[in-house]
Amino acid sequence: MNVNDSLRMGESLARVGYRPTTSAEDADLIILNTCAIREKAEDKMLSALGRYRAVKLRRGALLGVGGCVAQQEKAKLLARVPYLDFVFGPDAIARLPDILRRVEMDRARVVETAWLESEEYVFPRADPNSSAGKVSEFVTAMKGCDNVCSFCVVPHTRGREVSRAFPDILQEVAGLVEVGVREVTLIGQNVNSYRGGVSFAELLLRVAQVPGVVRVRFTTSHPHDLSEELVEAFRIEPRIAPHFHLPVQSGSEAVLKRMRRDYTIEMYLSKLAALRAARPGIAITTDIIVGFPGETEEDFRATLDLTRAVRFENQFSFCFSPRPRTVAGLKEAEWGEVPHGVKVERLERLQQLQRRITEETLAAEVRKRIEVLVEGPSRSNPLRRFGRTPENRSVNFEGDAPAGSRVLVQVTGSSPSSLAGLQADVVDLPPIPPISIAA
Ligand code: SF4
Repeated sequence: MNVNDSLRMGESLARVGYRPTTSAEDADLIILNTCAIREKAEDKMLSALGRYRAVKLRRGALLGVGGCVAQQEKAKLLARVPYLDFVFGPDAIARLPDILRRVEMDRARVVETAWLESEEYVFPRADPNSSAGKVSEFVTAMKGCDNVCSFCVVPHTRGREVSRAFPDILQEVAGLVEVGVREVTLIGQNVNSYRGGVSFAELLLRVAQVPGVVRVRFTTSHPHDLSEELVEAFRIEPRIAPHFHLPVQSGSEAVLKRMRRDYTIEMYLSKLAALRAARPGIAITTDIIVGFPGETEEDFRATLDLTRAVRFENQFSFCFSPRPRTVAGLKEAEWGEVPHGVKVERLERLQQLQRRITEETLAAEVRKRIEVLVEGPSRSNPLRRFGRTPENRSVNFEGDAPAGSRVLVQVTGSSPSSLAGLQADVVDLPPIPPISIAA
């Protein structure tokens, strides 16, 4: 979400004449786009601001903070960081040029964190001029979240759910395809609860059928919004990429209840089984919080068991950190704070297990011929090419296929996080035939 927001900020600044620098040392404007999901991200923001203070003093650079910490702290952040020029929330991205004008012309310190009503809100859209040359692009489908997970600060920083009208999304996708984008990732805090005139499943099917779209992805989802219709969309539309990021958060029923996650492990597993039946080989990734208040060793072992049973392709796992104004933050002492050392030790055990599973999953691809959508030169070795499989696995390979083409790659090796291979003789696989959407 934040990567997308940063891209949109860059585009809106480009329209008023700003250009990116390669180093913060040369910048006239520095914006930190922040995340409030964990305490560590906030700490990092403060230390980065300390570093950029020197640039401000030396060349008068303007310094701003955007994103969820800005939304959470509002004017308090200006009081805490006296050299900060402006603070703006996620809803104010489109107004960034206006904020800068006020800072520069009026010499004001600006706080712009009002939430907009759904009818006033303008969804940031990718600028086709900036997207030219990209193979993959984000498209915003909705924002905000109506859930009440007890650990999560997002409903406080991003507000209630607002879905974008589907014709607007389709129009944006068509514009991106025209400049060469082949893969679209629909994003939203709780994207599969989308209600913008069609169901989320239908939105995916319609986006997949925009001529020129090769793959559609989406992130991120709540298990209770994984509908049968969505499973069916995976079964019938091959352009919906076989990768589902489905945060489970814990393998323990008791912990899930305190998290207010609104599903049981049995429900979660039965949804995964339906997905796997609809699309064999689909990659499942997840998010897990370790050391949630009251988590016992037995609860934690249930998370390890779940990880072994599902064999997630990968997972983003973190130690619990209490967030302001959340139920879990307020009740941490009552439910039982897990000591920091225990959290860290559990996280290491979980990540070690996941590393092994990821490594085994990737190693099982060696000697196969796989489809890769080429993104460009490999970052580690520019003489090689880089691309991703439909399951979102990274592949570095020897070949000469241009960005945007779909190639077959013979996998010759694997590392803990990627595959290596040789481009096979087929370049630009034939287009996937259209399917018909039931009325
Ligand atoms: S569904 Fe996701 S974004 Fe919404 S409250 Fe729960 S964790 Fe936060």
